[in-house]
Formats: sequence, C-alpha cells, structure tokens
Amino acid sequence: MSIEIILLALSPVFIIFVSYEFIKYRRYYDIKDSLANTALALMHQGADAIALIVLMPFFYWLHQYRLFDIELSVLTIFGAFLLQDFLYYWFHKASHHIHWLWAAHVVHHSSTKMNFSTAFRQSLMYPLAGMWLFWLPMILIGFDPLSVFTVVALNLAYQFFVHTQTVNTLGWFEKVFNTPSHHRVHHAINPGYLDKNFAGVLIIWDKLFGT
Ligand SMILES: [Zn+2]
Ligand SMILES: [Zn+2]
Repeated sequence: MSIEIILLALSPVFIIFVSYEFIKYRRYYDIKDSLANTALALMHQGADAIALIVLMPFFYWLHQYRLFDIELSVLTIFGAFLLQDFLYYWFHKASHHIHWLWAAHVVHHSSTKMNFSTAFRQSLMYPLAGMWLFWLPMILIGFDPLSVFTVVALNLAYQFFVHTQTVNTLGWFEKVFNTPSHHRVHHAINPGYLDKNFAGVLIIWDKLFGT
C-alpha cells in the first residue's frame, strides 16, 4: 500500500535526523522513551497496513458514488493537499475534544520529551478510532482512494520535521506553515497553550478558526 511504502522509503531520512539530534542534543533524549516511540511507530504502521488492506475495497466501493471524476494534474494535486490538510486539522482538533478519539491520540502526547523521535509516538488504535472517516469526503468528491492515502502519508511525513526543540522560529514560514515552534506549543502543557495549533502542514487553519 502506498502509504506504508512512502513512510518506509523515508525512514532512512527519519533515522538520520533522529541520530543527528540524539548525538548533538543528547539532553532532549531519553533512550527508553525513544525506544518506546520506535516500537509504537512500528506497531502503528502495522495496524495501518492491515486497516488499509481491509478497508480499501470499501473505499473503492464508496468511490463509485463520487461527485466528480478528478484527473490528476498540478491543480488537482494541489487541491488534494489543501483539502486533506484542512480535514487533518479537524481530525486533530476532534482528537483533542472527543474522548473516543483522544483515547488513541493521547499516546502521542504521553511523553515529557520532545524530539524527532516523538513523531514516531503514535497509537496503533487510530484505524479503530476511525481516523480514516475524516478522509471519506475526499473519496466522495472524487479523489482516487490511493491518491488520498498518498497525500495522508506525505502530510504525516512533513509532521515528523516539526517535532524538535533544535529549530527556532522561521520568519515568514511561520505565517503559512506548521513549524517546530508552532508544534512545541501544541505539545506544551502551559494553560495558555492548551488546545492550540492543530495544524498538519499549514498553520492557516489555526489562524482561520482561532486556535
Ligand atoms: Zn495533538
Ligand atoms: Zn506532535
């Protein structure tokens, strides 16, 4: 399945970033914590792969009721990224407000460490919690299920890079994109920082909806 292959193909990049950060910024790491994160990532990937195999026939069944036939072009790919990132915002916000979804997402927030390996800290229960429900509108609009899950994977891959304390603010980039400094706020437990920055790739949704 495409989603697994994309993240698997990128895993050497992830490992290089984690290794570099671990060596240079040892203080941000706890070995046990990072090993747990890695084990969780593998279980999460396994659960996702099984869920995609089980659910793909349903996604293609649903796709026959699509509103439009969407051909892949620069414009529609851009549209797919934008729409999926918008839906990701609502998925993430819902994950913090609906107990059923929080039961899966809490795993990601259950460490006091913040480093690249924290991005690996994911629950294997996301498929059961129903993360995939949030992508159904895209399939109904007419995006091919494989394209949808490819975009989902790329969105998650981007988010790996916002899990670090080693990058300060990034100028104009902060205004449009989710960044390490935005996402540190999301992981913080300071009262003023709670329920802020649900962004995947674009921070514009948080600005638009007041989070
Ligand atoms: Zn969160
Ligand atoms: Zn995070």
